[in-house]
Amino acid sequence: MKGKLVSLVLAAVALSCGPLKKGDSIVIENVTVISGTGSVIPAVTVIIEGTRISRIIDQGVASGLDLHDGTTTIDGSGKFLIPGLFEMHAHTSKTRASALGLYIVNGVTTVRDLGGDHEELLQWRDEIRSGDRVGPRLLIAGPYLESESNVERVLNTPPDEMVEPVERTRIAVGSVADAHRVVDSLAQLEIDYLKVRTVTSFETFKALNEAADRNGLDLVGHTMGMTPEQILEAGHDGIEHFIFPRLVDRTRSERMKVWESFADAGIFIVPTLVTFTEHALPSQEELQTVVDDSLGEFDFRRRYLSKYLLLDWQEQVLEASEDRQTFFKSQWPIELEYLREMHEAGVDILTGSDVAAVNIFPGWSLPNEMILFQDSVGMAPEEVLERATRLPAFHLGLADSVGTIEEGKIADLVLLEANPLADIANVKKIAAVIVRGELFDRDALDLLLANVALAPDRRVNDWPRTGWLPRAKDSTE
Ligand SMILES: [Zn+2]
Repeated sequence: MKGKLVSLVLAAVALSCGPLKKGDSIVIENVTVISGTGSVIPAVTVIIEGTRISRIIDQGVASGLDLHDGTTTIDGSGKFLIPGLFEMHAHTSKTRASALGLYIVNGVTTVRDLGGDHEELLQWRDEIRSGDRVGPRLLIAGPYLESESNVERVLNTPPDEMVEPVERTRIAVGSVADAHRVVDSLAQLEIDYLKVRTVTSFETFKALNEAADRNGLDLVGHTMGMTPEQILEAGHDGIEHFIFPRLVDRTRSERMKVWESFADAGIFIVPTLVTFTEHALPSQEELQTVVDDSLGEFDFRRRYLSKYLLLDWQEQVLEASEDRQTFFKSQWPIELEYLREMHEAGVDILTGSDVAAVNIFPGWSLPNEMILFQDSVGMAPEEVLERATRLPAFHLGLADSVGTIEEGKIADLVLLEANPLADIANVKKIAAVIVRGELFDRDALDLLLANVALAPDRRVNDWPRTGWLPRAKDSTE
């Protein structure tokens, strides 16, 4: 049945073998396409003209293709082409701009930022769009929505005890009225969705969701303290770092009903499992080793981190108590059990790694999240791949342009040396990355990585505090 479907696809594309348009184009010959739509198409030629995938042609027919001077051809024999990967949970302000290149090096072509310095993020996004900076497609939440007490706590922490310019990244939402006012004002900015981090009452949580809805924006974020019924009632769109200690009192069949209602409501989950295995479970000493490893002898990835991020990581290491480690250790088997149940119930579990948490590396940690989906949650490799490509694109409203390999889609692609459907860990074996039609072959990726190590933000903290200016509580600036 599958073979028949494949040959039908080929018959449909084989006829379209005319000359290439003038201008730069990329021709990947004799490659196996893993489209992200459930089909695997062996031995095809994929043509990229400008920023888009223009044609996918049966290899037998492609030899008649009329190439011109601006064409780059790539031998895809024995290689596998997948859609560019999605990092669904990153804090880009904390990694600083140089880290944007690290996503490309690791095949991540779309990043969902979940809270940071809005002004800077917009600037970096403009630079990426205009071609002045190499980086992924960036979607932006704007500042974190926080409880009033949390904002007061961070604003009252002396600057020498907290490196983050919190006055630029966090907004207090203390009441239902605040929720409506803050969301209405943020909706005037160039943002793609909203992120709630801390909230003290269900009423405020619900009001945030209503206000987001009213403004046509998704609201995603932390749901600690909310019951599943409250999450459903509020109309929440996406859950980050899934932990539900309150559900231990429920039976498996009661929980399955909860997950099924999540699936029906279209609520997606970004569990950030690597924040357990690589961030919360290692000891304080282990995390301190990473921060102290200034030459990257212990972990080569350490060489590519910005000065700011390392200052932030040092603060985080001091907060990594033994109690926290014990708590997460006890949560880990429960988390996995719930995720297996959710997967069975059809909830969309998506790939994100919480970039900027200590020991979570921009770009590199995403494939590790995919490996945990496969090895610890028990998903098939093709399911994992869709949770890193097609499904995130769908939930971000980008399904028409990215997330799969189809004619007409934007050319965000990763060429792999080995089959990711045999083992999802093969997404690390990158031969080339194509971002909006721009090719980075192995040499170009290595050069990009070398350039990250030389970036000025590696040497100095370029996210200085604008001054110690705690905002008035009712300010929404
Ligand atoms: Zn986060």
